[in-house]
Amino acid sequence: MIPIVLVGAAGRMGRAVEAAAAHADDVRIKARVDLSARVVLPGPASGRTGYGGAEAAGTEDERGAELADVLAPGDVVIEFSSPAGCTAAARLCSERGAALVSGTTGLDPEEEAEVRAAAGRVAVLRAANFSLGVLALRRALAAALDALPAWDLEIIERHHRRKLDSPSGTALALAREAAARRGLDDGALRFGREGRVGARPVGEIGIHAVRGGTWTGDHAVLLAGEGEWLELRHVAEDRAAFAHGALAAARFVAGAGPGLYTLDDVVRPGGRTGYR
Ligand code: NAD
Repeated sequence: MIPIVLVGAAGRMGRAVEAAAAHADDVRIKARVDLSARVVLPGPASGRTGYGGAEAAGTEDERGAELADVLAPGDVVIEFSSPAGCTAAARLCSERGAALVSGTTGLDPEEEAEVRAAAGRVAVLRAANFSLGVLALRRALAAALDALPAWDLEIIERHHRRKLDSPSGTALALAREAAARRGLDDGALRFGREGRVGARPVGEIGIHAVRGGTWTGDHAVLLAGEGEWLELRHVAEDRAAFAHGALAAARFVAGAGPGLYTLDDVVRPGGRTGYR
């Protein structure tokens, strides 16, 4: 049984991980941590709420635990919280010898560096998107870019109205990977267009963020050539998509040494999983 400490347990993703874990027989939620006073503990009905489970049935705890009070060597922290929650978890995991699966997006470069520093002492797996479908999209995009080196590339993402950061961490990761594959740097990224911007420069990678409603996560990558275009698109209908990837990542880091890992280490090219 892998002991999981859930940071951000009261949030949308925390509750989705809780619901997915209720259906897994190799992980156990050891403790729930959240700044909010509304931490939902699984109740008798939680097994029947399905993987969507964001509105999981259960009782509400008065408060989540303090991470420093519960974290022990060998634990795996799964955090979907905030940049402050993420860096605090990284520091404490590194001090206590616990592994970290981290999904918070919108970290600034200093915060990212803090998470990377923890990876010098413990296993840390970060992903801007834990969906295994997005992992497949990234691999498909790499193949398409190789086949279509001169085509224009635009990324359009849609998310729910409450999302705090724009563009999404996934759109940024897709754009940066594409830029690197084309030998370009972040200067190639173009965030929206307005006014008389002129003709599209060669090599530009456009990124557009749409916000509204309850979209869980939608990423369309457009490759446009002469008289033809190609769209690679992933739609997450439910946060269960991310929760399942996060649990797979937890299984991987539970058996991994110190280092900074990605989902590519969990599902290796060729379809082999990186854990038993
Ligand atoms: P949310 O607002 O529903 O939940 C966040 C929870 O974290 C809240 O309950 C909040 O009280 C708690 N929290 C905030 N700071 C904390 C701290 N310092 N310590 C403990 N708890 C803290 O948000 P959400 O939709 O669950 O998303 C959380 C983060 O995960 C966001 O950055 C989001 O972009 C990201 N996310 C990533 C993925 C992925 O696959 N990587 C998928 C979905 C969301």
